[in-house]
Amino acid sequence: MKSDIRICSAWEDVHDRPVYTLSDSCPDCGADAVNSAPAPFDPEDRHGEYRRALKRRVR
Ligand SMILES: [Zn+2]
Repeated sequence: MKSDIRICSAWEDVHDRPVYTLSDSCPDCGADAVNSAPAPFDPEDRHGEYRRALKRRVR
């Protein structure tokens, strides 16, 4: 199920922590609020295999 929760697109610059909202803009700084996806962990992440392959190559 997809959530409607959005996150301040500029939170890394403006806020100490992610700011979540249900509206189109951040209630604190007015920046665009974007869909909170991608989640930190996505079992269906198509790029996960690629990232892991890169990591192996670095070691
Ligand atoms: Zn903000």
